[in-house]
Amino acid sequence: MDMPSASCRFAGRSVLVTGAANGIGRAVALRFAEEGASVCANDLESSAGLAATLERLAEASARSGFRARHVAAPGDVSQAAAVETMVDTACALTGGLDILVNNAGIQRQGASHEVDAAAHDAVLNVTLNGAVLAAKAALRRFLAQGRGGTIVNVSSVHEIIPKPGFLSYSLAKGAIGNLTRTLALEYADRGIRVNAVGPGAIDTPMNAAWTGDAAQRRAVESHIPLGRVGTPQEIAALVAFLASDEAAYITGQTIFACGGLTLFNEFRQNWSS
Ligand code: NAD
Repeated sequence: MDMPSASCRFAGRSVLVTGAANGIGRAVALRFAEEGASVCANDLESSAGLAATLERLAEASARSGFRARHVAAPGDVSQAAAVETMVDTACALTGGLDILVNNAGIQRQGASHEVDAAAHDAVLNVTLNGAVLAAKAALRRFLAQGRGGTIVNVSSVHEIIPKPGFLSYSLAKGAIGNLTRTLALEYADRGIRVNAVGPGAIDTPMNAAWTGDAAQRRAVESHIPLGRVGTPQEIAALVAFLASDEAAYITGQTIFACGGLTLFNEFRQNWSS
């Protein structure tokens, strides 16, 4: 007989996770599957990691004893038609949608006085507008279903900490905070909660340029009060909490999981008085 695992906060629920072929998105998708959800995993059609995510989702459900179904929904979150299709695909899993995780995001580096218009548009279109499009589509389903729903946006410490040389990314994440608060207020009376997580430096392919290099990694970690880079699983745990009924009284918040990066590390010793 299949026995549900001790943790089954999402049994019978359906979740759409964008950008789920790698990094934080994959860890989030797996966490939901481990806790009983049926997961619709989105990423770009060209993303090789999506098939591997699907395999691992099936393994996670088998391990935890849930009869959940999982599906891939390849598509670009910046394209409205693709977003509608992925939300339909997620709804088909269980006959509705319960949770949206807006995770897909990209960044481009360059001095702000030389910012490339195409790169700027690309970052905003994926990282911000993709979240807006998916939220719009999910909210319509939540309202039609009449049983509430929840959205978790993957923001960043750069929602509140400036990131020189990454203007478009900084702007997008700042706006994700506002998107979170605005939607939370607008839909609270319909039982819909909207929150965000703000990761610090996490060990994912986005940071492949330095995570594999011991010296560069130490340099990054010297700026983090807790002294280490975070794991995708640590972010997934927070996403799952915010999406769960345990967070039923939390809406409109960005919760930072960043090893203390938002604490002004430069002030750990007094130098100002
Ligand atoms: P990642 O690059 O490892 O994964 C991002 C995924 O999004 C990739 O699989 C990519 O193919 C997908 N993606 C990109 N464009 C897409 C599009 N148009 N449509 C659908 N999918 C698309 O990155 P990650 O580190 O796992 O980051 C995930 C989220 O976490 C992002 O929003 C990122 O800004 C945020 N974040 C990451 C860190 C970190 O240190 N890694 C810190 C703060 C915030």
